[in-house]
Amino acid sequence: MENLRKQDPELVKALGLELQRQRDNIELIASENIVSEAVLEAMGTVLTNKYAEGYPGKRYYGGCEHVDIAEDIARNRAKELFGAEHVNVQPHSGAQANMAVYLAALQPGDTVLGMNLAHGGHLTHGSPVNASGLLYNFVAYGVNEETFTIDYEEVRKLAFKHRPRMIVAGASAYPRIIDFEKMGQIANDVGALFFVDMAHIAGLVAAGLHPSPVPHAHFVTTTTHKTLRGPRGGMIMCRKPWAAAIDKAVFPGSQGGPLMHIIAAKAVAFGEALDPSFKEYGKSVVNNAKALSEALIGHGLNLVSGGTDNHLMLIDLRNLNITGKEAEHVLDSVQITVNKNAIPFDPTSPFVTSGIRIGTPAASARGMNEAAMKVIAEVIAITLKNPKDEAVLEKARGMVRDLTAQFPLYPGLAY
Ligand code: PLP
Repeated sequence: MENLRKQDPELVKALGLELQRQRDNIELIASENIVSEAVLEAMGTVLTNKYAEGYPGKRYYGGCEHVDIAEDIARNRAKELFGAEHVNVQPHSGAQANMAVYLAALQPGDTVLGMNLAHGGHLTHGSPVNASGLLYNFVAYGVNEETFTIDYEEVRKLAFKHRPRMIVAGASAYPRIIDFEKMGQIANDVGALFFVDMAHIAGLVAAGLHPSPVPHAHFVTTTTHKTLRGPRGGMIMCRKPWAAAIDKAVFPGSQGGPLMHIIAAKAVAFGEALDPSFKEYGKSVVNNAKALSEALIGHGLNLVSGGTDNHLMLIDLRNLNITGKEAEHVLDSVQITVNKNAIPFDPTSPFVTSGIRIGTPAASARGMNEAAMKVIAEVIAITLKNPKDEAVLEKARGMVRDLTAQFPLYPGLAY
């Protein structure tokens, strides 16, 4: 960092402040994680200098023989990790990966079934403000009003009523296991393509802790930066017959030059996920989520669907008389980072919400364990129950300080 420090102290100040924020706060945003130092290092390499439009062995630029090695390592490791027939590691983000799948498989105006954003789906699954909703005719399915789990019977009924070209499964705020086999069967029965966006749970799938969608779906996308613990980015897996169409939809269909330094970091992260230690990490994510959810319930908090099977949970705040927006704000003030989130059938606006979403991938990457989850649950409970009591908030801050001191983050790093 010596050169950066000398050349641009104004920017380095922001980096230092962010590093300190990450050290001092407990990160509970379910879509975030903490990458290894090896992944950080791979991102800051000379591979950023290289234009490499095309694919290994078939580039539109000279001098690609070495970045080809990096992309091949990333592709081969991803194939091995998920048992995929074909992998494209070039999407710059999860949203880009999803748009490339639509571009490869759909015509504008085609009907697609996707999970309701307000029930835990993602913007790119047909929200009217997203390109997916603007270009295609999305029909939403959701969760059952009593169980708050995906209503597979409703999915089947909607599929036979609307005869979609594609069914999309996957979510951003769904705390239970998704039955990909059942969804794939519905798609098969109605003659639709089946596409799974496993962005949130990819790390759990890699660790064998969530059933894999790969055997059941024509297309599977993921982000690489959530439970998978890689750099920010996206990836697409598909069956062999779709390989050429997917590659074409990424480049030249929707992107230009790939980010080769990020692809190198993806390779490093996939290597880490193939190591047996990643299974242990995955287990700690799931066990910590269970411990945290049980402790929160013990403090009288309501969890949507009554708990969690994966890395995240949704707290329904209505019995505490605090909105999602207020909860996010007051938790931030005691150095716990979460995001407000609509709960299914939320009576409040998406800018206010009646819920917060919390997840354990980042805290687990930091080494926090089930005992730490009990402390975190207590901090969350006392803070949300006493948002205006400065003495309580000060006590909560002290508890967070003690915890973050026990689990240091990037101890050797300084900006
Ligand atoms: N798909 C799902 C299920 C997500 O939760 C997200 C991001 O939160 C994305 C796609 C989009 O990923 P990105 O932010 O990298 O575009």
